[in-house]
Amino acid sequence: MYLPDTLSRAYLPDTPHPENTDLEPVSTLDFLSITEDKYTELQEHTQRELNQLQTTILNGWPNVRQEVPASLRPSWDSRSELAVCDGIIYKGMGIIVPPSLRRQMLNLVHESHLGIVKCKQRAREVLYWPAMNSDIEETVKNCTKCADFQRKQPAELLIPTETPGLPFMMVGTDLFEFESKTYLLTVDYYSKFIGVDRLEDLGSKAAIEGMKAQFSRHGIPEVIRSDGGPQFASKEFARFCKEYGITHKTSSPHLPSANMEVERAVQTVKRLWRKATDKQLALLDYRTTPLDGVNLSPVQLLMGRRPRNKLPSLRDLLTPTAYNRQDVMQRLDHQKANQKFYHDSKSASDLPPLCPGDQVRMAPSPGSKMWNPAIVVKRHASPRSYIVESGGREYRRNQRDLRRSTEAANTTEHCSDLAADDNTPYLNNNQSSSPPTEPCGRSSSHQQEPAAASSSETSRPDEPYTTRSGRAVRCPQRLDL
Ligand SMILES: [Zn+2]
Repeated sequence: MYLPDTLSRAYLPDTPHPENTDLEPVSTLDFLSITEDKYTELQEHTQRELNQLQTTILNGWPNVRQEVPASLRPSWDSRSELAVCDGIIYKGMGIIVPPSLRRQMLNLVHESHLGIVKCKQRAREVLYWPAMNSDIEETVKNCTKCADFQRKQPAELLIPTETPGLPFMMVGTDLFEFESKTYLLTVDYYSKFIGVDRLEDLGSKAAIEGMKAQFSRHGIPEVIRSDGGPQFASKEFARFCKEYGITHKTSSPHLPSANMEVERAVQTVKRLWRKATDKQLALLDYRTTPLDGVNLSPVQLLMGRRPRNKLPSLRDLLTPTAYNRQDVMQRLDHQKANQKFYHDSKSASDLPPLCPGDQVRMAPSPGSKMWNPAIVVKRHASPRSYIVESGGREYRRNQRDLRRSTEAANTTEHCSDLAADDNTPYLNNNQSSSPPTEPCGRSSSHQQEPAAASSSETSRPDEPYTTRSGRAVRCPQRLDL
């Protein structure tokens, strides 16, 4: 009790409160990174559509949930976080978006076609409405472009690389081509920040110039990792590294997975660009989206500030803030362990079975990147194999090469012109009794399938069947609307 006793006697002398006349007018617009038009639009729609919520927040919530009007009950649990300021409702740092503006915000969130997890993280940082997460999931699942260009199903086990202690200390690099132009890519092993610069040619000199440009922005890394391609194996490049005091490490040419961080970054950029109309904006959206499990974006980890993107956000979010590096490193390592666990267990486990009528996308055939829309017709007699229909033709595909899709994502102009793609049909409708012959040059998963009996002998797919492990599978009964 000594301490509080002493402190209670050592209080500060009373200072008179500043007079109200000292208050200066403050505009909320100064705290929000948003155009004036958008601000007015938000205010108007909030006034019109969220009037009841606004009034309740301003007048105070009732004591018990039962007294709250039914339409406001979803907000009951978060009532302590809700505030109204200048006609706009906030939940914490997030702006509550009125219903009629939600579609517009969803489009902005998904503008660069980032995946579900990234889109959710992007949105959660600045926006809020009840069921926002499921709305985002719907939007991404039903996006045609995302269904057209998706990742291959996971195959090999993940080998995580160690996280360096500081941003831009260890940087991976590679050249890649996109739309017959050459680009230099660097990826920071710490922040996952991806830098991309256009190169004049494939030469060593151009690669060095590109790298110098990137290092002038972020500093010189201690270590560069590359696959040891001709640009990086030259004397010129060795001289450049020596001059700049960089250690150059190359991955074994027989083990490309050693340079996985870079390969993944190249894939990320290509996937973004295939779908994006604005390449630079797509990169900005990737860089400003919080990393899974860390809640800081690559650019924040690298530069300590969150640059503005097209989403409306509070200015506070854009203010540079210090973060706890130890904490971030722990989270990054934890995240890597998680990724490895899910990646490895996913590739090992069986995929859930498909049913006739399910909307799917077929893995691209060699030389193509496009996942074509298709509908499951029936199971094939051989395990994990299906007959699917796409553009009026039937194909036989292993389940590894089929991904679930939605009707919305499949119903577009792409469905009509897909026959132009080089998908070799397995069988035509009128030739269904001929023995299955797989087109040559397909991936190994097709070749592994044993030749099956003719399709007249295939099991009736609508009926329940039992898997090899003894699990009974029943297809859901669908409403035939
Ligand atoms: Zn998309």
